[in-house]
Amino acid sequence: MFRSEYYAVLKALAAAKRAAYHAVTQNIGLQFVRAIYKAEGVTIDLWDLPARIRGAYMCDDGDPSVLINRNLPKEPRLFAMVHELKHHFCDRGAIAKGQINCGDYNANEATEIGAEIFAAEFIFPEVEFLQAVQNEGIEAGKCTAEKVVRLKHSCGAPVSYKFLQKRLEWFEIIEPREFAKVQFQKLEEQLYGLPIYKQDWFKRRRATKHP
Ligand SMILES: [Zn+2]
Repeated sequence: MFRSEYYAVLKALAAAKRAAYHAVTQNIGLQFVRAIYKAEGVTIDLWDLPARIRGAYMCDDGDPSVLINRNLPKEPRLFAMVHELKHHFCDRGAIAKGQINCGDYNANEATEIGAEIFAAEFIFPEVEFLQAVQNEGIEAGKCTAEKVVRLKHSCGAPVSYKFLQKRLEWFEIIEPREFAKVQFQKLEEQLYGLPIYKQDWFKRRRATKHP
């Protein structure tokens, strides 16, 4: 099978799994994915792992389990959990035989890129992404960092700024690394205000509650 075909198959699989689990993009979160793990009989182990390792899928004696780096922020952790689900759905046999091993992988392997494609499509399907881009009036070559922040706010998908930039690059709406120097979190705070946990009154209240 050609790689492009393999990736198309994985996008179709992501759509099928979304349908099977009644996924609605705006409701996808850690709780939702944990429920899928439970239904699939996959154990989740949160570990302190080095930053470069996001997760690993293992299948010993027919017992599937996934290690997830507990230090990952919410959105990358969600992405890693769905990435590992692709190995559960597609690569279980080969992993059990020790032929491939996610976690200690060559990032260029088709199975790994495939897992990234599966996760991206499962969490935020391309069709929905393009609709959200259109709703924000974003056009190729005319996208600003502020527009990316507004897109993240309005789309409601549980994705990181890195995710949105990769997608915008993929569809050639922005240039590769066009916003590499932008601090999106800061920009978001300028546009939408500080999140509650960063506001002074909240920090003071916490300090008195938890001396
Ligand atoms: Zn992997």
